Amino acid sequence: MKLGDFELTSLFDGFFRLDGGAMFGVVPKTLWEKRIPADEKNRIALAMRPLLVRGNGMTMIIDAGIGDKMDAKSTSIYAIDRSRHLDHSLADAGLDATGIDLVLASHLHFDHAGGFTTRGAAGKLTPRFPRARYVARTGEWEDATHPHERNRASYLQENFVPLMNAGVLDLVAGDDAIAPGIRVVRTGGHTMHHQIVMIESGKRTAVFAADLIPTSAHVDEPWIMSYDLYPMDTLAFKRTFLREAIEREYLIVFEHDPVVTAGYIRERDGRKYVEPVGE
Ligand SMILES: [Zn+2]
Repeated sequence: MKLGDFELTSLFDGFFRLDGGAMFGVVPKTLWEKRIPADEKNRIALAMRPLLVRGNGMTMIIDAGIGDKMDAKSTSIYAIDRSRHLDHSLADAGLDATGIDLVLASHLHFDHAGGFTTRGAAGKLTPRFPRARYVARTGEWEDATHPHERNRASYLQENFVPLMNAGVLDLVAGDDAIAPGIRVVRTGGHTMHHQIVMIESGKRTAVFAADLIPTSAHVDEPWIMSYDLYPMDTLAFKRTFLREAIEREYLIVFEHDPVVTAGYIRERDGRKYVEPVGE
């Protein structure tokens, strides 16, 4: 996808499965299963789609999928299928891990930050992208390194602590420009410091929506995940954001949609829907 000076490529780190009820919060199954069908364990298939952003002399990846460190038990619980994964999609884009300059985190949950580190031959955890600087939000780092009962299963220390130890992690406190044309906006909701990424060039805007709008089935305001720690904050942000996205025709990049990688949010007769683009 071309966006002004940038070339955007939706990458892929495999599929996993999460409880369908948890993915749609208060929405009854009779409604959500029409959009994404459940398996016999009531799970729905979700993709992990980090975004590659190239332009202005920079090669950046936003999030990096679940990575290769999950044990057999977690692989089975989440039905992780990485028969095709990030290395394959980077290769399709003519790159490997050494080609990435900048890795930006929407937040530090394992399905987003798992691919930030890898286990070397001697079992030592090292940054997965050897030349890259990594950027995460200060508040997210604080929460991730001080987990509580409700979020501990999502924050696996092996995914981000080795980055700090290696001196490659930069923490950014506010809604700052990360690079020319790239800025982050805190949404809260999913986690207190969850952020989306706005990519702006040539009067056009693309948004990496991360877990604010994880799939194209989540464009209605109340379709909010039970995983969100602060669902009313998600609702407040989403309400404003959706209006803006429709009016300004933001290209929305979906990180978890099993089928639709990106699209425009449209509204007809009060109903919101996604007009898919690309791939
Ligand atoms: Zn996620």
